[in-house]
Amino acid sequence: MNRAALLDALRAAVGSSQVLAGGDLSAWELDWRKRWRGKALAVVRPGSTAEVAAVVQACAAHGASLVPQGGNTGLVGGGVPDDSGTQVLLSLTRMNRVRALDAANLTLTVDAGCVLQTLQQTAADAGLLLPLSLAAEGSCTIGGNLATNAGGTQVLRYGNARELCLGLEVVTADGEVWNGLAGLRKDNTGYDLRDLFIGSEGTLGIITAATLKLHPQPAASLTALAACADLKQCVALLALSQSRLASGLTGFEVMGDFALALVRRHFPHLPQPLAASPWTVLLEFADSEGVDSARARFEALLEAALEQALISDAAVAESIAQSAALWHLRESIPLAQSEEGLNVKHDIALPVSAIPEFVEHTDAALRAAYPGIRLVNFGHLGDGNLHYNVQAPEGTPAGEFLGAHEHGINRIVYDAVQAHAGSFSAEHGIGALKRDELAERKSPVALKLMRAIKQALDPQNRMNPGRVL
Ligand code: FAD
Repeated sequence: MNRAALLDALRAAVGSSQVLAGGDLSAWELDWRKRWRGKALAVVRPGSTAEVAAVVQACAAHGASLVPQGGNTGLVGGGVPDDSGTQVLLSLTRMNRVRALDAANLTLTVDAGCVLQTLQQTAADAGLLLPLSLAAEGSCTIGGNLATNAGGTQVLRYGNARELCLGLEVVTADGEVWNGLAGLRKDNTGYDLRDLFIGSEGTLGIITAATLKLHPQPAASLTALAACADLKQCVALLALSQSRLASGLTGFEVMGDFALALVRRHFPHLPQPLAASPWTVLLEFADSEGVDSARARFEALLEAALEQALISDAAVAESIAQSAALWHLRESIPLAQSEEGLNVKHDIALPVSAIPEFVEHTDAALRAAYPGIRLVNFGHLGDGNLHYNVQAPEGTPAGEFLGAHEHGINRIVYDAVQAHAGSFSAEHGIGALKRDELAERKSPVALKLMRAIKQALDPQNRMNPGRVL
């Protein structure tokens, strides 16, 4: 590869000031967990779809590969370059225009680099709801959300990013532009290209824009915490909540006692309204009726749960600020964990009914194999997604512990996930972290089909090579 000629071509594509080569590029080269640090040939920051296409064509002409990046909040090492110094890091963050909001069609068409929280606000300003919500929403981009098929806290009611997307615009590996942005809810004209690119983690093409589904804003939204003695009670509370609130139940998160203890340790200023209990559930109820009737229904649910001894205590937020504080508590767990030190993360999905048995069995197996390890357990129980994370024993250097035991810990956890008919990647994707796991655990037929798709769409393997497959 002629590096100087490639840099000239990239400068011609996007302008010299948007090609960064040399200097400190760690904001793009180091991932959020500070686990993967790569070396880019250059960071390129296009401002339009045409510029993205020109960058891809320049890379193709000079035999370079590309790593797309949005907010760099991914947790599986998929959005940073490798350490070869030969990959072009394509940052989409300058592409942050809202292209159109169609209130009658309930759609929002936006550039891929728009920050999720900005889009939630854009929808809210029009009296509408974009129901994709995750703790990284202040920095992740909608392109990254779609490339990873992000989940978050409202999947129970509204589905993953995939369910919230009606169309995409994509720059292909050849540098052509596919415009599939029509905001149609019905379109059976052959293979679903949109769904192929969603969740492909930048390995099939660059998402440059999307048309998103909006929903009406609920008239009332209420949040509560409830204390449970064990996970079986949490699952029973979920069933009771679903039967009483139906689709009004928009969030059902669980937090293990050690997860909240870490928040107390690292963020002591955050109020925790309930006394410590083995499990704390965060429930959210959204209703199209008024606040008073919603509150009456919500409180009746919690009273029934107390009467049935599913919970031992509960607290309903009295204001929007209190509700935000409860969510902040839940969303501070990943940050508290990284303050505590390196850890082994498992983002797993299981049938909800299998979760209590899975956790009991796997906790015991891990504690027997690695005495003193600390289990940080929390997640989106409502849709069967647990963040089942492992922290080194107190006082043990985390790096050394993980270096020696990460593989063994993963084997115990993922074997148990497989035995319970679950998935080893629920919402974070595969990236670099779980590539070997995918090769080992996905069925040979599925892998063959995935490789055939990659070969057809990116035969030169220029799009985020070494990730996913
Ligand atoms: P990046 O990290 O920049 O990239 C992620 C992947 O997508 C990479 O493979 C990259 O190459 C590719 N990519 C990015 N943009 C494009 C594009 N335009 N076209 C093609 N490929 C692209 N995730 C959840 O699903 N649910 C959660 O609840 C959740 N909570 C989180 C909490 C915290 C505190 C943090 C730090 C992360 C959390 N995540 C969660 C993970 C992360 O926020 C999501 O994966 C998010 O969707 C990534 O968006 P991003 O813009 O930061 O993408």
